Amino acid sequence: MDRIFSWWQGLLGGGEKALAHDIPHSAGGDYRIKMIPALSDNYMYLIISCREPKAIAVDPVDSDKILSVCEEEGVSLVAVLTTHCHADHSGGNQRLADALPGLAVLAGQPDAARTPAVTEAVSAGETGCLAGLQFQCLATPCHTRGHMSFFLDGRDGQAPALFCGDTLFVAGCGRFMEGSALDMHESLSRLVKLPPSTRVFCGHEYTVGNLKYACSLEPENELLQERLRAAEEQRAAGLPTVPSTLAEELEHNPFLRTRDPKIADALRCPECNDPLEVMSRLRRGKDTFTFVGKVITLALSIQSYFQSS
Ligand SMILES: [Zn+2]
Repeated sequence: MDRIFSWWQGLLGGGEKALAHDIPHSAGGDYRIKMIPALSDNYMYLIISCREPKAIAVDPVDSDKILSVCEEEGVSLVAVLTTHCHADHSGGNQRLADALPGLAVLAGQPDAARTPAVTEAVSAGETGCLAGLQFQCLATPCHTRGHMSFFLDGRDGQAPALFCGDTLFVAGCGRFMEGSALDMHESLSRLVKLPPSTRVFCGHEYTVGNLKYACSLEPENELLQERLRAAEEQRAAGLPTVPSTLAEELEHNPFLRTRDPKIADALRCPECNDPLEVMSRLRRGKDTFTFVGKVITLALSIQSYFQSS
């Protein structure tokens, strides 16, 4: 009850403006998208209908921020799309459901049973309509068994949008927490069949780390170096690197290039013509790369602490 009260207080009192980024959209589109950073590196999204004052939230871990942006925009939140059950994606579901009776909360089978406040478990290939907007559910299991991605087609020149949680990241993919290399390969193969102009709205700001890993595999690849420089500049300016497009992902994402002999060579596995073996090695390599990076960062911070004290 006190949570509902604090929400109403925020709603009535105005409160601080939530930091949200407007995603540019064409004038004739059916919807516009606001990206709302949360926690240390998560992204939540608000899909706002251009025809009626209604919105859909994607992975609303911070319910207060979502409600604050809805208030700023003068729209009612009618539904929540949950890509997967992890708390940094679904952690705000219950508070939103408590505050907004009748709110539709969707999640994929079989994650739905362990996702808070779900009113509808959706299956692969299912389509639906929320806030007057058509969307499609694409099963993308591996990070979790029931991970679901959501696709909104574009109209009148508007690029389609894909909300892919922790399956596809800019220049990377999610950890294989509940699936195999085959599961990730199949999930990503499903996504790359979408139009190349599709904008990729992923669940985390991981681009710089992912591009550093991609560059470590192919130090001579100028496109990767250029995209890493651009991403570092954007982050230094406090800007998100998301969304990318599927066309860009096909160029720079090693996990989408498992049939590219250059990737097999980079993994020192020239005989690898099996995309599943390449996928598996890529993920193991990325996990080690991230771990080593964290150890180095920790060692440097300990060193600077002792130097400054
Ligand atoms: Zn996750």
